[in-house]
Amino acid sequence: MKNIFGRARIKLTLIYLAIIMAISLFFSFNIYGVINNEIKRRDRILRLAPPREFVDQIRFRIIDQLIFTNLGILLISGISGYWLAGLTLQPIEEAIEEQKRFISDASHELRTPLTVIKTETEVTLRDKKLDLKNAKKQLISNLEETDKLKKLTDYILTLNRLENDLEKEKKMIDLDKTTKEVIDQMKIKVDLKTEPVKIMANKISIEKLLTIFLDNAIKYSPKNAKIAVKIGQENGRVIMEIKDNGMGIKKSDIPYIFNRFYRADTSRSKNKIEGYGLGLAIAKSIVEAYKGKIEVESEIGKGSVFRVIIPC
Ligand code: ADP
Repeated sequence: MKNIFGRARIKLTLIYLAIIMAISLFFSFNIYGVINNEIKRRDRILRLAPPREFVDQIRFRIIDQLIFTNLGILLISGISGYWLAGLTLQPIEEAIEEQKRFISDASHELRTPLTVIKTETEVTLRDKKLDLKNAKKQLISNLEETDKLKKLTDYILTLNRLENDLEKEKKMIDLDKTTKEVIDQMKIKVDLKTEPVKIMANKISIEKLLTIFLDNAIKYSPKNAKIAVKIGQENGRVIMEIKDNGMGIKKSDIPYIFNRFYRADTSRSKNKIEGYGLGLAIAKSIVEAYKGKIEVESEIGKGSVFRVIIPC
């Protein structure tokens, strides 16, 4: 990959250089032509014929000057062209690196349930005295792993489609009503404080956003712990606040929780809370698409507050 970008950078530099040198040479020939004509015209008007060597000397001096200037332009535009080409290609290179990392992380996460299905099925098939009960048990386990695979692929597809989908079907939605609908659909108990708020958005993306935060608030809290949601508007900004009294997040983890596939150690080890570390990455993409931001306050053992702020 580095090689491709190295070659592309040189190619781009050469293109910049060719354009600049074509312009520079065009002007140089023009300048030389104008000065040459001017010398001839003066000869004719003044009817003075300066010595031939003198005229040639002037011509050579102009040619020398023009060659020198063009070499200078070649050098300066070569260096700045190379630097500019690097600057142009850098975001593309970073985006491709990010994609590669994502594919590698996604394949790694997909491999785990696939390996479980494969090994368990092989072991079950090797059992010569396999009865219906054990076969059913195996099928149930396979189904669970397939569900995990489906959830993960759904997440990956959401992340990929997000940018296109958000632009589609944007309309004025009642955020308070949408929040109530999401809470009802999730069949959870939430302490909801809301005022009538309207926002220009894609409804599905707002539902997804609320679902992600509420899902986490439940997952990372003890059973029946209190979850509070506040929806409001302040200084031309819509504010959604999701507060839980759960396990909280370590200060050192907070800068990373929005990274794709990042899971804090507590969620990986303690009681094995299911997840892929993609929810908050999706939430971040949605909020950024609306030019908003997410603030997090959290204390280990006390709980977390996620605050989404979107300009309206
Ligand atoms: P997942 O929940 O699938 O692991 P997320 O991207 O939603 O992925 O969250 C990333 C990590 O952030 C989680 O693994 C967890 O460690 C931490 N986290 C997110 N929300 C909370 C919360 N409400 N309370 C405690 N930890 C949380």
